Amino acid sequence: MPFEPAQPSLYGETLESLQTLLKGAGFQAFRAKQITDWLYKKRVERIADMTNLPQNLRQWLEERFVLSPSKQVLVKQASDITEKLLLEQEDGRLIETVLIRYPMEGVGQDASRKTICVSSQVGCAYGCKFCASGLAGWKRNLTMAEIVGQFVHVSRLEAERSGEKPGAATPIDNIVFMGMGEPLANYDAVVGTIRLLNADWGMGFGARRITISTSGLAPQVLKLADEPIQFRLALSLHGATNAVRQQIMPVNRKYPLEELLPAVAYFSEKHGRMLTLEYILIDQINDTFEQAHELSRIARDLHAHVNLIPYNKVEGLPWKRPNIRRQIAFGDILKQNNVSFTIRKEKGHDIEAACGQLRLQTERERGTLAV
Ligand code: SAH
Ligand code: SF4
Repeated sequence: MPFEPAQPSLYGETLESLQTLLKGAGFQAFRAKQITDWLYKKRVERIADMTNLPQNLRQWLEERFVLSPSKQVLVKQASDITEKLLLEQEDGRLIETVLIRYPMEGVGQDASRKTICVSSQVGCAYGCKFCASGLAGWKRNLTMAEIVGQFVHVSRLEAERSGEKPGAATPIDNIVFMGMGEPLANYDAVVGTIRLLNADWGMGFGARRITISTSGLAPQVLKLADEPIQFRLALSLHGATNAVRQQIMPVNRKYPLEELLPAVAYFSEKHGRMLTLEYILIDQINDTFEQAHELSRIARDLHAHVNLIPYNKVEGLPWKRPNIRRQIAFGDILKQNNVSFTIRKEKGHDIEAACGQLRLQTERERGTLAV
């Protein structure tokens, strides 16, 4: 059952859904466009600020909806350029949103300044052995409003900080679905969010600036390939053979490489863009020469860019990041094989910026972690 808040947030509404709602309640349908402008263009903080709506419509909205679905409980600024926000949802669940003020190499993005990394679920059911989000299991899917809400929240925060009006311009350059959760396991809400971000009546945000990262749900990748919007895809590969991959990613038993890679190739073909392969380097597990050669072969076949991510330590997990010499030696093999790659620089290491780590720590402190 999808989560249903007592009072839903307006950020989950589209132009169409608002038109239907308003008509049903006896209001004029053209008001829907005025509302989406206040929500997604001007990003006002209160329904009362929607000044061109008649008083009775504002009141009607206020009785049924809230604006923001969450409240900020923590902001952690790293010594580098990463900032992490912890947002509490109506039911007390915590999610993480990260803002990276730096070009995020390797995710196929154009050079740009600010990337927001959003969560799509509370926790994650896929249980990758290296990941903090997987450690505490899956709690629930986020609603579309809770995903859009992360974007609006950070946009507003950034506009405020630069002294601009909340709706001056979207102060975010890229959005990546690389926070907590598996986006393709919450397909409708994630694709709905992308449509809303991209729509003229929504944020008008360029599709090429949107990246979905998946652990490899092959059937959903095929479905995604047929979506008409030109967003980007990143595949969390982390192992270049079934044997190594399934040791750290249980999902590989369900969708092994011989099923997953053709699905991803189909996506690339349909979208005509370079795919990104994410590969966390974990000492002695997936950082051997043999894996580097296999990875090169996969990347060449898919015409993909490889993003090497030195493993970020998670408390309670046994894995280590390889030393710098090993990381470089791994990269050298990709280079010899003419594979385009980047080694991701350290960002946010000191604020537990890898997926799910801040929430895990906060829940441990609050004593609310249900494992
Ligand atoms: N479920 C999706 C998206 C969220 S994870 C996926 O798996 O792709 C986003 C990225 O963070 C993935 O590439 C994931 O492998 C990476 N990640 C998770 N734990 C990490 C850690 N401890 N160190 C470095 N990267 C990590
Ligand atoms: Fe889930 Fe992605 Fe973490 Fe795997 S890496 S447990 S799929 S969030």
